[in-house]
Amino acid sequence: MDRGEKKETMSQEQTFWSVECGSEDPQFLVCMSCLNEVFRCKVPMPDCPTCHGVSTYEAFTLESIRDWGTEELIAKADTASKFEETPAEPSLVEKEP
Ligand SMILES: [Zn+2]
Repeated sequence: MDRGEKKETMSQEQTFWSVECGSEDPQFLVCMSCLNEVFRCKVPMPDCPTCHGVSTYEAFTLESIRDWGTEELIAKADTASKFEETPAEPSLVEKEP
């Protein structure tokens, strides 16, 4: 009867620390160890998913990342910035004709 206990969590969800970022502060946390991960206003915990470095993240502006980052890093930062701009709730109000 009650056999629904077995939950299979296929996706290994990444956990994040949220980082307080003011609108004028650098909001993009880049892993200085592998330079391959960037997140906006949050850092993965307990360590970097790519190089497993701890406390390797430093904050930069998107502009600065575009200046020195690899194409991949810039693309990720770009995605992160776009992701943040779209509202979290999927409740898009559809305009009726
Ligand atoms: Zn890393």
